[in-house]
Amino acid sequence: MGRGKKAIQLLGQQLQRYALGVKSNAKNSSEILVKDSQISQSALVHQTRGNAAVAATQVATQTKLQTSAVPAVSTDIYGAISAITEGSKVEEGVFKNMDGHRFEDGRYKEFTNEISSFIPKERQYTDAVRTFAYGTDASFYRLNPKMVVKVHNEAELRRILPIAKKLGVPITFRAAGTSLSGQAITDSVLLKLSHTGKNFRNYEVHGDGSQITVEPGLIGGEVNRILAAHQKKHKLPVQYKIGPDPSSIDSCMIGGIVANNSSGMCCGVSQNTYHTLKDMRIVLVDGTVLDTADPISCQSFMKSHKKLVDGVVGLAIRVQSDKELTALIRRKFAIKCTTGYSLNALVDFPVDNPIEIIKHLMIGSEGTFGFVSRATYNTVPEWPNKASAFIVFPDVRAACKGASVLRNETSVDAVELFDRASLRECEANEDMVRLVPCIKGADPMAAALLIECRGQDPAALEERMVEVQRALVEAGLPFGAKASQPQDITTYPFHHEQKNWKIFWDVRKGLIPIVGAAREPGTSMLIEDVACPVDKLADMMIDLIEMFQRYGYNDASCFGHALEGNLHLVFAQGFRNKEEVQRFSDMMEEMCHIVATKHSGSLKGEHGTGRNVAPFVEMEWGTKAYNLMWELKEMFDPSYVLNPGVVLNRDPDAHIKFLKPSPVASPIVNRCIECGFCESNCPSRDVTLTPRQRITVFREINRLQQISDPTAEEKLRLKEISTKYEYDGQDTCAADGMCQEKCPVKINTGDLIKHIRSEEMSQAPRSSAAAKWLADNFTLVNNNVPRLLNFVHFAHRVLGATPLQMISSWMNQATNHAVPVWNPYLPKGSAPLKVPEPPAVVAVSPALPRKVVYMPSCVTRMMGPSGSDTETASVHEKLMSLFSKAGYEVIIPKSVGSLCCGMMFNSRGFKDAAASKGAELEKELLEASEGGKLPIVVDTSPCLSQVKSQISEPQLRFALYEPVEFIRHFLVDKLEFKKVRDVVAVHVPCSSKKMGIEDAFTKLAGLCANEVVHSGIPCCGMAGDRGMRFPELTGASLQHLNLPKDCKDGYSTSRTCEMSLSNHSGINFRGLVYLVDEATQAKKPNVTAASRS
Ligand SMILES: Cc1cc2nc3c(=O)[nH]c(=O)nc-3n(C[C@H](O)[C@H](O)[C@H](O)COP(=O)(O)OP(=O)(O)OC[C@H]3O[C@@H](n4cnc5c(N)ncnc54)[C@H](O)[C@@H]3O)c2cc1C
Ligand code: SF4
Ligand code: SF4
Repeated sequence: MGRGKKAIQLLGQQLQRYALGVKSNAKNSSEILVKDSQISQSALVHQTRGNAAVAATQVATQTKLQTSAVPAVSTDIYGAISAITEGSKVEEGVFKNMDGHRFEDGRYKEFTNEISSFIPKERQYTDAVRTFAYGTDASFYRLNPKMVVKVHNEAELRRILPIAKKLGVPITFRAAGTSLSGQAITDSVLLKLSHTGKNFRNYEVHGDGSQITVEPGLIGGEVNRILAAHQKKHKLPVQYKIGPDPSSIDSCMIGGIVANNSSGMCCGVSQNTYHTLKDMRIVLVDGTVLDTADPISCQSFMKSHKKLVDGVVGLAIRVQSDKELTALIRRKFAIKCTTGYSLNALVDFPVDNPIEIIKHLMIGSEGTFGFVSRATYNTVPEWPNKASAFIVFPDVRAACKGASVLRNETSVDAVELFDRASLRECEANEDMVRLVPCIKGADPMAAALLIECRGQDPAALEERMVEVQRALVEAGLPFGAKASQPQDITTYPFHHEQKNWKIFWDVRKGLIPIVGAAREPGTSMLIEDVACPVDKLADMMIDLIEMFQRYGYNDASCFGHALEGNLHLVFAQGFRNKEEVQRFSDMMEEMCHIVATKHSGSLKGEHGTGRNVAPFVEMEWGTKAYNLMWELKEMFDPSYVLNPGVVLNRDPDAHIKFLKPSPVASPIVNRCIECGFCESNCPSRDVTLTPRQRITVFREINRLQQISDPTAEEKLRLKEISTKYEYDGQDTCAADGMCQEKCPVKINTGDLIKHIRSEEMSQAPRSSAAAKWLADNFTLVNNNVPRLLNFVHFAHRVLGATPLQMISSWMNQATNHAVPVWNPYLPKGSAPLKVPEPPAVVAVSPALPRKVVYMPSCVTRMMGPSGSDTETASVHEKLMSLFSKAGYEVIIPKSVGSLCCGMMFNSRGFKDAAASKGAELEKELLEASEGGKLPIVVDTSPCLSQVKSQISEPQLRFALYEPVEFIRHFLVDKLEFKKVRDVVAVHVPCSSKKMGIEDAFTKLAGLCANEVVHSGIPCCGMAGDRGMRFPELTGASLQHLNLPKDCKDGYSTSRTCEMSLSNHSGINFRGLVYLVDEATQAKKPNVTAASRS
């Protein structure tokens, strides 16, 4: 019997023991019997979802579920699949404010007309590619907006909202689109927050950082970095961070964090936005602004919006005088809960403080009450002393009991639960197994707690750790991965070193993507997010594991924030046919009953209600509270303009409609979970598409191509999308792979685009032949490009900038972007490469010869400094000077003039030409470095990266160095440095970032200048010459460049990137070797050492 099967069999036996009464005859039927394992049997209660609400506040002992049968499904033109139910009947062209019924009846045309007076056409998107791209968020729902509008500021929004209200045009706000429950999509108008430059990105740190005011387009992680920089700059004793800590914090934005009331591993229920928000600036649907930090704004709002204020106060009075309802609300928010609205605002504040109530009602309202244009947080301390332990228990009950003990008896900071399936994922991580060997071969129901303690100082940390260990031991819990081999708690010590605890937390953060990446192509990854009182956690978890097994979700993993009873359930699900929709529908119905009714829990702990559990809000909350929520919606947004269908939805089947397909497209991107984490790293995000959007549109192209008998409409759509994708998807992708750096499943969308380009080139034999000819005659290019550059430089001096710009722009258009657009920082031709003399004095031991192979890239062989630069030497001259000062003998590969790493061919899709150049270079390097014995320096980071990616000889792998790496490893101790600049800017090219040498870069520049500032740009978008052929790409990427005024120099290690950075910053960027050469001199010979050698 295989390991997997055996584990499932054992798991089944264990489950029988644990889940006692759970029986099922559900395999092919829609009737499921759920029996409470804790409470003695009593009367059978027949509950459909409609009347389940009545029982929500009671404890159901037995529930017979009547799940709804999905009679049929339909697929719309965007591929979304929906269960056909009564409400599905569509009258073409008749507008109803329901998903799928929002037809154009003239209102969208009018809306467009009215907003066009202040929103330029370039920020209104209605084409098939962009609307589909923005119709994608991280959820498994698909609605295609009719129009996407990029909004730059609050003033624009204040004008748009009243127009939408007047015309009855529903709108949805979009921040980063990482939401999982379907709340950031619409089939009407999507208002995308622009987060370009300063748009929605302003902030102000107050005092010591214990408060910060932020705008909604800032990424959560960025806010924390701003706070960290503030502490460092002012040498403050405490570092602060914002309370909410969703695992998506490095991608999601303040707008979404506030509107979803997001939380994470450490923030619990006390540090979410609801509990840490000080003030908020809100734009209501009529365009009015309420700024809660401004007493005048509050006073005038109380007068102008008396009806809303009175309504909210009236509700608060009603709720506060209803003991049962107040108790329900308090109970529900004692654990994580983002199902429905934040009704706790109605009980937590006095009724004479309506502003405070309104402010808190906005939190978690998912853009259905108004727009959050500013938020002031009370931040929380980020204590520097941390330690984590990973404690394994032989069964889930023991682990859950442990979590309960820690919650009730200690002040532990974070406790994460791992079920057996999650532990199995950890087994693949060698570091994890090294730290916790017993996870391999653990019992089938084993589970673990990842525990973190923090302290203001080491003593406080120690105190907390001792408290945690003592509480767990005194609770008499069994420790160890096998019941038959009990362990002492000391088997699982706290780890203080970051390198160790980071392993635990990285594994935890990676769980969602690991499951996502392992799923069968064609399926989507679903994440449910439930919570219950922590003392019921074990029962709920066992029920859910059993349920998933029964429905055949064998890949389901169950883990989460144990202290708050919050579990994430991650599994793969296809939406390809009626059967799959039925299975999902049945599972959802049962899961909602298990969580909401049986265990009095929350259907959404932190991800927001969205469309996913909107039909179950009444089940969870009961009819009274549910009706209150509708009343609130009517008060804030009586015309249902703001994100209708989200949080509250009258359609009981909304959760099984508009399900997003995941068509098989390419092995390079099939694993994509459309989380959007990659978006902020992409240089083309503001000009065309983001990586996620490139993938989703590519998937759509593939879906349409796979339709066996397409309709005329489908054919037209395929043509339109494919044509537009050439520019939006392919031409403007820098193929730099920076998306991979942020992708949890490590997808490099650039690889997809290069693959598409190469497929296209294989269909274009003439172009391929021309590329091959060029590759074979590269010396010609090498010798002539410098002459051409010098000629252009001369033309610039004679004609001036304007004619060159005009002519080159015209030629660029006329040749379909084959000819680059000139810019004033275009380099002059490089000086010819001189083969160096051996250094005069070399004081070295014969055992350690100072010999280096230097491979100047074709770029530095051809391109010198820019015409406007005071520097006249080329990169190779500077590097040679450094080698010489350090006493190195330099070996240049023999036929250097004909060599090239092949990147320029590869990025255009000429695979054969690229491969032949790569092989030729490898052979030469092997010979010059004596089979990899000597270090080899390639002076241009992207070229080095290309060489490394294609070499076949393993001995070369460790011989190759980027200049910064080589200088740090070999030259620093042989040179004397002095600081020659006050402030310098550095731009670490994407290839260097990927090689992990960002720190080395900063440190080396720091030896030469007092202050080093980073460009802050993930990728400049230059990508060889692409940024010159498509200047809008670098323009969009570098518009964020914001260097200090006193910075007069910039440094990098890629000549083409430097040119682009200079063009957009107005200061000269050069190779870092220029700065190092200027700042160094040869070390005076150490007489003793020299005489010894
Ligand atoms: C892999 C993965 C892991 C995740 N982990 C967590 C987690 O640990 N914890 C957690 O809580 N969430 C998690 N999420 C969910 C999601 O990342 C968070 O809810 C996040 O805060 C959403 O922010 P966003 O910027 O993407 O907002 P969006 O998705 O763009 O929008 C979210 C909602 O806010 C509304 N909105 C946006 N801006 C505004 C505004 N200015 N004013 C009013 N309404 C607005 C939108 O209309 C929408 O309803 C995860 C998601 C993924 C994909
Ligand atoms: S490419 Fe990666 S980061 Fe980007 S959406 Fe897909 S899975 Fe997420
Ligand atoms: S390779 Fe670069 S430009 Fe292309 S999608 Fe990825 S980050 Fe964007």
